[in-house]
Amino acid sequence: MRQLKVAVIHSHVEKSLKAADTLYKLLTARGHEINREQPDIVISVGGDGTLLSAFHLYNHKLDKVRFLGVHTGHLGFYTDWRDYELEELVETLCTNQEKSVSYPLLDVRIKYRNGKPDKHFLALNESTIKRGNRTMVADIYIKDELFERFRGDGLSVSTPTGSTAYNKSVGGAVLHPSINAFQLAEIASLNNRVFRTLGSPIVVAQQEWVEIKLQDSTDYLVTIDQFNIQQDHIDSVHYRIADERIHFASYRHMHFWHRVRDAFIGDL
Ligand code: NAP
Ligand code: MN
Repeated sequence: MRQLKVAVIHSHVEKSLKAADTLYKLLTARGHEINREQPDIVISVGGDGTLLSAFHLYNHKLDKVRFLGVHTGHLGFYTDWRDYELEELVETLCTNQEKSVSYPLLDVRIKYRNGKPDKHFLALNESTIKRGNRTMVADIYIKDELFERFRGDGLSVSTPTGSTAYNKSVGGAVLHPSINAFQLAEIASLNNRVFRTLGSPIVVAQQEWVEIKLQDSTDYLVTIDQFNIQQDHIDSVHYRIADERIHFASYRHMHFWHRVRDAFIGDL
């Protein structure tokens, strides 16, 4: 039996607090160590949002950490375990016979006009660019070639696992997470006889990159998952599939389309 260092990140609803408490007891009884600094396994207890938070706490250690999601509310896209299955979960961790899976992440690089150093982020769901209260005008380059001039509210760039989140709300396609690609979707584009964009979401291949060059302004808002990054004088934002991936431990191979139906359609 192997001994693991485990961190538990939970939401603050009653059910999650209880489940986290049960987990601590089960884990320590099995000789595992609770260790938030250098964990081998990060267990998130709550919803998809809780797993997003856990991801950002450990996003600098992705090669060492395996994630695992317990849901205390509805079935999520990153959460496969129920709060009444905790014993089985801890058991699976011990036997080392887990099935693991990894998903692509989005690499985001923000470049500035005023000589400030670039900022670099990883997104698990998506990154969006929006503008305060005026039309956002942006030139979209794919592999360094101008593709279109966008005018509208903004743009969303999502990972395959993020495709069921914000991307879906703005009319993007749901992508199976085994597809190593990212998706660019428009947010309320302006289309008329003068201004023209493609008007549909596009799926960009793994070896390609997208650069969004912005007009000089101080009121852009860039988001990375649940975080807002208010930025002035952004020159451009560069997107590609990250070299890093997120690894899940003890993943249950639930049929992806079953999850999608369960989340968005319900019983037939
Ligand atoms: P939140 O406002 O609590 O989350 C919004 C909802 O999105 C929650 O129901 C959350 O599930 C769900 N969600 C998160 N990741 C998902 C995924 N990959 N697939 C399907 N649903 C997903 O904020 P949050 O929990 O911190 O999550 C941040 C994310 O919310 C952002 O990355 C963005 O994708 C999404 N969001 C969506 C909209 C929109 O659709 N208009 C607006 C803002 C943010 P849980 O309840 O399980 O946490
Ligand atoms: Mn949430």
